[in-house]
Amino acid sequence: MTIVTRFAPSPTGRLHVGNLRTALHNWLLAKRHGGRFLLRIDDTDAERSREDYVAAIRADLAWLGVHPDGEERQSARFGLYEREFAKLADQGRVYRCYETPQELELKRKVQLGRGLPPIYDRAALSLSEADHAARAAAGQQPHWRFLLDREAPIEWNDGIRGLQHFDPAQMSDPVVRRADGSWLYMLPSAIDDIAMGVTDVLRGEDHVSNTATQMQMFTALGSEPPRFAHEALLVGTEGKLSKRLGSLGLDALREAGIEPRAILALLARLGTSDPVDASLGAEALAASFDLSRFGRAPARFDEADLHRINAAVIHAMPFAEAAPRLPEGMDEAAWLAVRPNLAHLGEAADWWQVVKGPVAPPAIDEETRKFLGHAAEALAALEWSGEAWRDLTAALKEASGRKGKELFQPLRQALTGRDHGPEMAMLLPLIGRDEALARLRAAAQ
Ligand code: GLU
Repeated sequence: MTIVTRFAPSPTGRLHVGNLRTALHNWLLAKRHGGRFLLRIDDTDAERSREDYVAAIRADLAWLGVHPDGEERQSARFGLYEREFAKLADQGRVYRCYETPQELELKRKVQLGRGLPPIYDRAALSLSEADHAARAAAGQQPHWRFLLDREAPIEWNDGIRGLQHFDPAQMSDPVVRRADGSWLYMLPSAIDDIAMGVTDVLRGEDHVSNTATQMQMFTALGSEPPRFAHEALLVGTEGKLSKRLGSLGLDALREAGIEPRAILALLARLGTSDPVDASLGAEALAASFDLSRFGRAPARFDEADLHRINAAVIHAMPFAEAAPRLPEGMDEAAWLAVRPNLAHLGEAADWWQVVKGPVAPPAIDEETRKFLGHAAEALAALEWSGEAWRDLTAALKEASGRKGKELFQPLRQALTGRDHGPEMAMLLPLIGRDEALARLRAAAQ
């Protein structure tokens, strides 16, 4: 059987680190088994769903290289929900209720006061057709609950959490449809998973109790439930995921210069016992993707890791890949020279500017000025080659007696206008003889 997974975001905001991780895992799981990965836009909530978020979700996934094998939208599937709902109503698996939130709250308080589990007491089940007719005549619309089978214990072997067991006698019949006819998430999701042929549902552990309810929905809808796996939620370095990190959108990461590859490498393995490896691309990550590697402890997300991995990705990036995003004229030699110093690709332009000039002469003392004057003379006397830096420093060391930082630092400052940066041996040939001479002379004045 081919594996079919799905990612089912509600388009009520941008993708963030948490739901992106779930998306990637579903994608990798399908890829690993040569299966299909579907995108399902859960937009039953017309008020909160927005078209620009739908577009952003697609664009964000595409930017990461995640291309779904198909897409469905819940708002286009209301007819299907209506038909399946009618079948459940015929079987008596959904029923009409009228309690207000205040009434339900009161019931819960009474139950808790008596030491009973605060679950819905099914009072509406005993309403007669005449009662319903009377309410309808009074203009009251019912909301609908799904009738759990309290005699059928709920069990599944969770791909991450192992055997799960729930007692339906301890659970409330869930509301599946509001009085205005709109859908709550659970029933349409189960209907879609069946219709879309989803074989594996991988989602966050905040959905475990929904799964328990949905297990019975699948059966009531005449279908075997798919396999379920629930991954531990993300937390920040200090426990709970902060609001900022939790909502850290892909747009913000992209703007911060984070490469898709770094996001993939980190999120693919976050929460697993496998090491994060910046050199792994999608294929390798998919080949090694394995639910049994996931732990039950919360997965720790540290933004600093993302920046560290990003740097590693940049340091290994071939010129051909970087080229379209580099400044005009920046060639392979320049890329290789500056690459080890970059945390983000955008910084390449700063170093290219250093190469091209102009650079500001450093603020230095009289003696250093003299030294740089000698450096200019020494450079002028040298036969210019790719080894210019080695030859220049060797000559100056001999003549001035300077060594180490005393020798190198003033030269770097005069030639680049900066205290730190890429290897001077690689930068100097890029700066070129005439420009280097001019910079040394300017600093010596
Ligand atoms: N739209 C639901 C959510 O975002 C889907 C959950 C799921 O079934 O994966 O929570």
